[in-house]
Amino acid sequence: MKTIGLLGGMSWESSALYYRDINEGIKKSLGGLHSAKIAMYSVDFEPIEKLQHAGDWDGTAEILISAAKGIEAAGADFMLICTNTMHEVAPQIEKNIGIPILHIADATAEVIKEMGLKTVGLLGTAFTMERDFYKGRLTDKHSINVIIPDEKDRKIIHDVIYQELVLGIINDNSKAEYHRIINKLFDDGAEAVILGCTEIGMLVKQADTDVTVLDTTSIHSAKAVEKAIE
Ligand code: GLU
Repeated sequence: MKTIGLLGGMSWESSALYYRDINEGIKKSLGGLHSAKIAMYSVDFEPIEKLQHAGDWDGTAEILISAAKGIEAAGADFMLICTNTMHEVAPQIEKNIGIPILHIADATAEVIKEMGLKTVGLLGTAFTMERDFYKGRLTDKHSINVIIPDEKDRKIIHDVIYQELVLGIINDNSKAEYHRIINKLFDDGAEAVILGCTEIGMLVKQADTDVTVLDTTSIHSAKAVEKAIE
């Protein structure tokens, strides 16, 4: 079994889900007392969040490169960045380490293509919904059409992530707003909606909607399990 590197802490609420999902996946696949081999580095999210909102992506990259080197030194065979947003700096991180990164957008795209879908909605931080590192990768590399909410709704999605979900706060009004926006994306032609922020699965559950939702935390974790035991 390969050792999975986890670059977490963004936020730790979702890193805890990764830790559980990956261990449960290994247990299910290998049985017995098997558990995942994981080398994890969990950063302090506060400075990262400040740098993101100041637009200092090089500053975030510096912190994450140093953490990624620690993960490699700890013996990881490949690495997951446990957040959609910070894949903004995945290319810089990859250049500075000798192990591959299992990209969250590629893992999600694989599932979308397996399901035979052509057009999907995307929810995430404003950075993920608006910048090119994620949407562009889905479109250019995987030929998937991506629809995002309008500006007002993008702000609602973004604010709920940073003011509630990364703090572990689950609010019923926010949940209703998310479902309203998911339904709107469906009406606009999305065949499924990517929960493109690793905390959204804490708020939006498949059981609560008829629209297919793609939880990037579960998808990324499941791909890591597959890769660890292949
Ligand atoms: N975990 C979130 C994501 O998947 C947001 C927190 C962050 O900015 O990294 O994008």
